[in-house]
Amino acid sequence: MSKTLDAFLKENLEDLKGKGLYNVIDPLESPNGPMIKINGRELINLSSNNYLGLATDNRLKEAANTAIQTYGVGAGAVRTINGTLDIHVKLEEKLAEFKHTEAAIAYQSGFNCNMAAISAVMDKNDAILSDELNHASIIDGCRLSKAKIIRVNHSDMEDLRAKAKEAKESGLYNKIMVITDGVFSMDGDIAKLPEIVEIAEEFDLITYVDDAHGSGVLGDGAGTVKHFGLSDKIDFQIGTLSKAIGVVGGYVAGKQELIDWLKVRSRPFLFSTSLTPADVAASIKAIEILMESTELNKQLWENGNYLKAGLEKIGFDIGESETPITPCIIGDEVKTQEFSKRLNEEGVYAKSIVFPTVPKGTGRVRNMPSAAHTKEMLDKAIAIYEKVGKEMGII
Ligand code: PMP
Repeated sequence: MSKTLDAFLKENLEDLKGKGLYNVIDPLESPNGPMIKINGRELINLSSNNYLGLATDNRLKEAANTAIQTYGVGAGAVRTINGTLDIHVKLEEKLAEFKHTEAAIAYQSGFNCNMAAISAVMDKNDAILSDELNHASIIDGCRLSKAKIIRVNHSDMEDLRAKAKEAKESGLYNKIMVITDGVFSMDGDIAKLPEIVEIAEEFDLITYVDDAHGSGVLGDGAGTVKHFGLSDKIDFQIGTLSKAIGVVGGYVAGKQELIDWLKVRSRPFLFSTSLTPADVAASIKAIEILMESTELNKQLWENGNYLKAGLEKIGFDIGESETPITPCIIGDEVKTQEFSKRLNEEGVYAKSIVFPTVPKGTGRVRNMPSAAHTKEMLDKAIAIYEKVGKEMGII
């Protein structure tokens, strides 16, 4: 190894470990369902994005198995050479139907969807108004585009309006985009889309909503944009196939011309091999299930509300979440990490989230209940929270 690389790695790894910021990864010895197994121990899983339990659903497994038998395990090429299978086209048609848009385009992940879509449309002569709590993939996608990034205070509509006005009136930019998460995953709050759309109309902003955590959750499952009845007002509806849908992949849904442009200009579509047949078939099945019935969605909300009520009743600060995402705010970083570790020892897997992912002093253990949890699992988790919370003087 090069001496400079060696020194760089040693110094920085030590630094991260010293600050408690080095991620320790616990491999699962089971599917990522409501219960998981780590190091031979069964734990109640409150950390996955498998909101509806579809990642382990038999109907999806069956669809994936059939696709593997029909098409094999790999798509064999990028989409524009000959890596577009008929089921890729079917997936995109389903996504457009699901999102109430003219068309959709699928990518290999939600992360590279943001890298792809922003930079296909925005360039150095443009500006992007970006909520300060937007996801890392949005931030990276904005940087890649080379557009001027204007950070907007979180969900602060006065700040957004002032900055949109200033950008518009400066005459410096060809295009201006406003970009936001639909649901913010650290606190579970929902973007103020009606106000954002109003400001966008006033200043002719391109609207971009990454609904990774809203799809399958809000709007009877169709997402945050549908929840507010704004399907014809948002230019880019981004989603991921990896959370409520339970598989892997990302997508943009929007007007036909936008999707046509992304198909010729977005680089991961042009230069990275397409989603595997199993991913595609399982995703189609998941979307069909979501469009046919709201049963899983209802169960998710019931479980989310049950967990929230239980934790609040025993004295935890669960923040201001408007979705099933349930943060348990502890505050101090070291105490938060210790709390998560003790929960784990008692049988609950709930990850701590601390600075720099969330502001200093707002460390929390974040709970992601799913439709697949039973009341017994949630009751047990609440009892463990109570035990550890009292023991550590948090409640
Ligand atoms: N956008 C948001 C808002 C997300 O929360 C995530 C996942 N953490 C992504 C994009 C990336 O999605 P994926 O995991 O499908 O790459």
